[in-house]
Amino acid sequence: MKNSILVVEDEKALRETLEYNLTNEGYEVDTSADGLDAYKKAHEGNYNLILLDIMLPGMDGFEICRKIRAEKNTPILMLTARDDEIDRIVGLEVGADDYMSKPFSMRELLARVKAMLRRVRLMQEESAPAPVETISKEVLSFGDLVIDSIRREVRINNVNLELKPKEFELLHYLATNRGRALSRDKILEDVWGWDYMGESRTVDVHMRWLRQKIEVDPGQPNRLVTVRGAGYRFEG
Ligand code: CA
Repeated sequence: MKNSILVVEDEKALRETLEYNLTNEGYEVDTSADGLDAYKKAHEGNYNLILLDIMLPGMDGFEICRKIRAEKNTPILMLTARDDEIDRIVGLEVGADDYMSKPFSMRELLARVKAMLRRVRLMQEESAPAPVETISKEVLSFGDLVIDSIRREVRINNVNLELKPKEFELLHYLATNRGRALSRDKILEDVWGWDYMGESRTVDVHMRWLRQKIEVDPGQPNRLVTVRGAGYRFEG
């Protein structure tokens, strides 16, 4: 699968040069020239990397970076207007992973992007959870918990739980993404679908119901874990 990159830069010539060169390197490229639009794209999208200019109309790069960091770990490479130490320090403080000072050589930028993506991939491989103990692809088992999508049943210690269809789908979805933090929006989109007009509270309500059914202590869940500022994670 292609890596996707969001290029945030209000200077048209530079934005187009970046888009052209990154596309040539085989990346999927999306662009934005405005801070508010950039944040919206980063918030809703699922990019592998974000190139982020600092001085932007609407919302500046520091603010965008801070807001994205509160939600996800997408690597952010900041583009600072000048070789300004303050910019770099603030950039790193708000959670940027790296920075480059303008003007930069396109070759160096491409090398940096490649290195960052490689680093993320290696980290993901290292921290990937142990494979799910599967009886078959359709039957997932986590200790005493069995999620059986052939029979559409969930069992704990061989006792069948009464789950509503959406509860089943939600649990199955979380379980197949074990160990991964999922935002409410992402869950809504994947379980309820694009056209679903609900709100993220729907996810919270279903999560509460599920916890009551599968957690030993629903108030202190150890399977359906809340990830602060992010959403939920299934811990097997
Ligand atoms: Ca700018």
